[in-house]
Amino acid sequence: MPHYDYLIIGGGMTADAAIRGIREIDTEGSVGLIGAETQPPYNRPPLSKGLWKGKSIDRIWRKTEERGVDLRLGRTASRLDLAAKRVADDQGTSYTFNKLLLATGGTPRRLPFGGDDVIYFRTLEDYHRLRALSGEKRRFAVIGGGFIGSEVAAALATNGKEAIMAFPEEGVGARLFPRDLSLFLNDYYRQRGVEVLPGQQVIDLRREDGRLLMTLRDGSTGQESTIAVDAAVAGIGIEPNVALAEDAGLPVENGILVNERLQAGSPDVYAGGDVANFYNPALDRRLRVEHEDNANTMGMRAGRNMAGEDLPYHHLPFFYSDLFDLGYEAVGETDSRLETVADWSEPNRQGVVYYLRDARVRGVLLWNVWEKVDAARELIAQPSPIEPQTLKGRL
Ligand code: NAP
Repeated sequence: MPHYDYLIIGGGMTADAAIRGIREIDTEGSVGLIGAETQPPYNRPPLSKGLWKGKSIDRIWRKTEERGVDLRLGRTASRLDLAAKRVADDQGTSYTFNKLLLATGGTPRRLPFGGDDVIYFRTLEDYHRLRALSGEKRRFAVIGGGFIGSEVAAALATNGKEAIMAFPEEGVGARLFPRDLSLFLNDYYRQRGVEVLPGQQVIDLRREDGRLLMTLRDGSTGQESTIAVDAAVAGIGIEPNVALAEDAGLPVENGILVNERLQAGSPDVYAGGDVANFYNPALDRRLRVEHEDNANTMGMRAGRNMAGEDLPYHHLPFFYSDLFDLGYEAVGETDSRLETVADWSEPNRQGVVYYLRDARVRGVLLWNVWEKVDAARELIAQPSPIEPQTLKGRL
């Protein structure tokens, strides 16, 4: 039975960052990684951004294998026995460990119809499938108006494809952006050739005569309509992969609950990345964050702590996206249901949006404004109340 000083479950960016963290402290200890995907860890953001703008696929690899790691790919860890410090995978192999990291990420939510005709865009394999289809087909349904929907629709349109984007909210990125900005984005996407269908629930998708028929229901009128497309791609959120932890009796509540050292209810078991639910002192609340900076920074911290360091994870992660020629960075609680104060230098093109609750800045959206993430973090961490009118020109 293979034994590792450090066993990592998951083969994503968090896993790779943790291995880097381990190796910064311990260059000798044995490291094993069990990953469901058949490829070694790679950077996920380019799949919906850079690879559609000419970035080479050769540049996505994290080169984890160069760090002295035993990669066990194409396998899923199926059982964790805490008392025996043992993990079994779906191919009947068991592994023992001294320290374990659960970096199991999330699984895309699926629609109850459409089967494998819908690409739930998340992995490199999904990218290859969509890229191949984009070479053959013309008209694409993009289901969902969140991160994946907005980036993939822009990617397809930029590559000369017809993209029809359907989502239940009023505007693109409506959970995140203030209403005006979200409605502006509907028009901005339309001007770039995307057919934007807000307020629409996708209620059916079936194959007929080689095409896909997508049925939509209008959220306000209840009226149904059917659209024919050549292919469909969806981003309707992910569910954290907690089953392994839950079955082992570890604490789970919207993800795996970790303490400030990133231990998950057992001193030798850690969790990080999309699956981990952690406390952030600046916001004084628990968060579960599904973005790159959190995967990298939390993974690194988990790895270093596993290798003997003992420091808390207090980082407030930022995230970013590109929407055609617009781009942004954001940090904190950027929930459009909060009170927002927009400070535009050019409306909807460049400016800062502050998200407030109880006279405190909870989140900041930096819209075509760069190198201000740390200043935004300081503002969020500030303990005293803030007058909204004093925010103009602040960042
Ligand atoms: P997401 O950003 O949570 O967006 C989900 C979208 O799907 C929302 O607009 C949601 O609307 C909509 N939706 C839900 N059910 C639907 C249905 N039945 N029909 C049509 N639309 C429906 O999730 P995602 O775009 O799938 O992204 C997956 C994960 O990857 C996220 O964790 C995201 O953070 C991450 N990611 C991040 C980046 C980045 O940081 N730039 C880029 C890509 C992906 P409601 O709000 O009404 O439910």
